[in-house]
Amino acid sequence: MISVEEHLESILSQIRPVATVTLPVPQAHGLVTVDDVRSLADLPRFDNSSMDGYAVRRADLEGVTSEEVRLLPVAGDIAAGAGQPRRLEPGSAYRIMTGAPIPTGADAVVRVEDTDGHPREAQFRVEPDNGANIRRAGEDLKRGDVVVPAGTKLAAPQIAALISAGVTEVEVVGPVRVAVLSTGDELVPFGSADGELGAGQIIDSNGPMLEALVREAGCYPVFVGHLADDEGETRKEIKRLAQECDAIITTGGVSKGAYDIVKKVLDGEGTMEFVEVAMQPGKPQGFGVLGKGDKGVPVFTLPGNPVSTLVSFEVFVRPALERRGGRRSSEGSAVGYATRSWTCSKDRATYTRVRLIRDETGGYAVEPAGGSGSHLLGGLAMADALAVSPPEVEEVETGAEVELMLLRPRREIDARLEAEVEELRRSDEENAD
Ligand code: AMP
Ligand code: MG
Repeated sequence: MISVEEHLESILSQIRPVATVTLPVPQAHGLVTVDDVRSLADLPRFDNSSMDGYAVRRADLEGVTSEEVRLLPVAGDIAAGAGQPRRLEPGSAYRIMTGAPIPTGADAVVRVEDTDGHPREAQFRVEPDNGANIRRAGEDLKRGDVVVPAGTKLAAPQIAALISAGVTEVEVVGPVRVAVLSTGDELVPFGSADGELGAGQIIDSNGPMLEALVREAGCYPVFVGHLADDEGETRKEIKRLAQECDAIITTGGVSKGAYDIVKKVLDGEGTMEFVEVAMQPGKPQGFGVLGKGDKGVPVFTLPGNPVSTLVSFEVFVRPALERRGGRRSSEGSAVGYATRSWTCSKDRATYTRVRLIRDETGGYAVEPAGGSGSHLLGGLAMADALAVSPPEVEEVETGAEVELMLLRPRREIDARLEAEVEELRRSDEENAD
């Protein structure tokens, strides 16, 4: 048996990012920049007003206060988008809107709140500071400044900044297209059996689960299918998928059963290796790259028990897919405190499904969700995280600190816990009334 760390390292050492592509900025959402991306314009592009108000010359309002008001004739309106450059004559004002270009000659904008708002002859109640309420051209970004550094995953803020900076296309590490292939004679695809299953049949839940996990990991499930335990079919299908995808995930057929054909089919192909990893669940693992160089496609063969599949994805596949997409690995980790004890597998890292509760101190308290069998899906649906115990730990004692791999974004978990605390508080209040 090899350790989790050894297997992960062996996988990651063989993963390289997919080819780069150039995409329109909005379509590059979620992908990682290859180079520094620079601004093609000064931002703001022109001096403009940050307020609805009046563009003025300060000299015309010297000494003005709310006691000592002054009237100025209004030469007209300048709306946002107003095209022609205007000139502000001494002794007058322009009514101006937020985002509208500052007329030449003006050196301040007085907020409408500091005037009577009159459209033709406005009364001013303050003397503005030099440059008041004027957003200067280039104060945000200069043409040529780096807007987004290389290696950045593009999220909403970067998309807005790039587009404002005049950038239309951006080179990014390509979207990672993933194929998911469930194997097993007993499997019936979701939706095909109208709820009627033959004797010994089960619905393929790993396929849709992995499809969801792939999506959550920021990749694109482009094929989700299932195959019977048939060597010829499986060989043909994997060969086909390796031409069309950037990664393949299979489930089932890698244990010691007589019909565990995934292992048979892939053994000796590319760099494929089948190993036993010191973990519970998820011991039988296979990984390798089919094809060479840029054409190499990583193949993960995960065990078929649904909980083993999920744990294997979280521990090995997610970090590998992140690297394939040119991203840094995200940890999604936290710590919690056991509210009761549970046993762990001897000499293997144990991943226990746990539900999180709000601790009095504001931390996470954890309790196992359902039993420990890796076929138990009911408990899985209640789990927020996997509690990770290293191989040397045989029992997690009540009160012990445990490391958590979160199965949802932390703020989603926190939102639920907040709602639970709030509900409890409300029902306590009602009982007290
Ligand atoms: P295997 O790894 O093929 O020996 O399968 C281990 C266990 O997981 C068996 O009980 C299978 O029926 C179950 N299993 C395998 N594939 C799936 C799947 N796609 N969905 C749900 N259960 C599965
Ligand atoms: Mg099987």
